[in-house]
Amino acid sequence: MPFLRKVGQLTISIGQRQCRRYNSTKKYADIAKDVYDVVIVGGGVSGLTLAAALKPMNLKVALVEGMSLASTGSWDPSFDVYSNRVSSITPASKKYLEQIGVWNHIDEMRVEEYEDMRVWDGVSGARIHFDAFDLSSDGTGGAMAYMVENLNLQHALLQHLSEPADVPVTILDNTKVSEIKTGEELDDVDLSKWPTLTLTSGDSLTARLLVGADGVNSPVRAYAGIDSTGWDYNQHGVVASLKLEWDDRQRIAWQRFLPTGPIALLPLPDGNASLVWSTTPEHAAHLKSLTPKAVCTLVNAAFRLGMVDLKYLMRLTDEDEIKREFEWRDELLPVEAEGSAFPVRIVELAEKSLASFPLRMRHCDTYVGPRIALVGDAAHTTHPLAGQGLNLGQGDVACLARVLEQAIAGGADIGEEFVLQKYWAERYPVNHVMLGVIDKIQKIYCTDCTPVVKLRSFGLEIVQNLDVVKRMIMKQATGI
Ligand SMILES: Cc1cc2nc3c(=O)[nH]c(=O)nc-3n(C[C@H](O)[C@H](O)[C@H](O)COP(=O)(O)OP(=O)(O)OC[C@H]3O[C@@H](n4cnc5c(N)ncnc54)[C@H](O)[C@@H]3O)c2cc1C
Repeated sequence: MPFLRKVGQLTISIGQRQCRRYNSTKKYADIAKDVYDVVIVGGGVSGLTLAAALKPMNLKVALVEGMSLASTGSWDPSFDVYSNRVSSITPASKKYLEQIGVWNHIDEMRVEEYEDMRVWDGVSGARIHFDAFDLSSDGTGGAMAYMVENLNLQHALLQHLSEPADVPVTILDNTKVSEIKTGEELDDVDLSKWPTLTLTSGDSLTARLLVGADGVNSPVRAYAGIDSTGWDYNQHGVVASLKLEWDDRQRIAWQRFLPTGPIALLPLPDGNASLVWSTTPEHAAHLKSLTPKAVCTLVNAAFRLGMVDLKYLMRLTDEDEIKREFEWRDELLPVEAEGSAFPVRIVELAEKSLASFPLRMRHCDTYVGPRIALVGDAAHTTHPLAGQGLNLGQGDVACLARVLEQAIAGGADIGEEFVLQKYWAERYPVNHVMLGVIDKIQKIYCTDCTPVVKLRSFGLEIVQNLDVVKRMIMKQATGI
């Protein structure tokens, strides 16, 4: 006599008596309808990637997203306008997206890879140069990262999820989770330990496994009572879409560490570029109050001028005055530095593309609980200076999907904590090291105190001359 009851692909353990009873009542059908193997909260890149990874496993999966995904699903960008939210995707993340069948939906015409990265200290001028060709062990080079608009990624993920499947993933967007509770006794069926979510749409879902891919303020994490420790950087990440004076085919990623935070210029196709300028909340507010032309001038200044001059320019508000003050200083710089020591000048900032985000470091003590797992920013959030946040989330998803697949193959319940612990045990140390390194770099570079500047510049110059160490750093950063 059966003790396991199949509901779609979902198996609920129930007794023989209950089985017969639910079979013959409408209540049973109602329960089955709203009970899922996996409910993912969050339709950001982490949540959608997990849904895509679970798709071939024939599990009954629902994804709940608070925002509407309609415009992302029908994303049809104009040729030369780039979104201001762009991420550097590591070769490891790209490989994973290929494996799960998502990358072939990416609009590759809008992706730029870079093989060269130049990083320098704004105070001392000490430099480090990563070149994929010099640093690959066989000298064949290869991309260090791929610059992809987050929208391009999410669109590709939605395309993949919309393809036919034996058990399609249910996507419930434009509806938020308003409450999560356990202890729902659904008549005689014992789902009392399974999380039940109430949505703002009025729907209610019960999950064998609830995954929080719901970002830094994760409601799933709050429900699970999992602590997240960390601090705010008192910096904002200012982003914008930019146009370069000419299309620099060198495909270089530039980053200059200023005492107020690093400024990065990352290549996009056809002479476009993406800005990530981490700076004080006051500077971020100031930049947002200026005209786009004035911001362009300040971005050029931030890559070229000394700290005293830059500080002075950052106090000005008038577009013409900023331009005048920058231009005579710029003329004093060596012409040959253009394109090798500094990026090509910015000439345009795309309309309404300037935005800013508070930057913080958070890490949860655990990523799992009874019938709970956290992935991506819900589990850890980091400073964007190394372009790792989204990539760490991809690593989480790859690991969790593998752990769940193994559990299914072994006949285990995928919501059991002992199953989920394997995921946490594998991912926590990797993320912890990366978050720690990024945090130290942020702290070491956010000062112009002379002894610290001397020490960090000495360290940078040593690393610059040690290819073995540079190769190790690149291996960690690219994930391969
Ligand atoms: C300026 C900046 C630059 C960055 N650059 C890079 C980079 O180059 N490379 C990189 O790897 N990373 C980068 N990152 C980090 C990266 O953007 C994040 O790590 C990544 O987007 C996190 O994705 P996620 O899906 O985990 O979370 P999120 O993108 O935060 O998604 C969470 C989702 O959950 C939904 N949600 C929340 N609450 C609810 C609820 N109650 N009900 C329903 N839905 C809910 C939200 O609407 C959201 O869609 C950058 C970050 C910043 C700020």
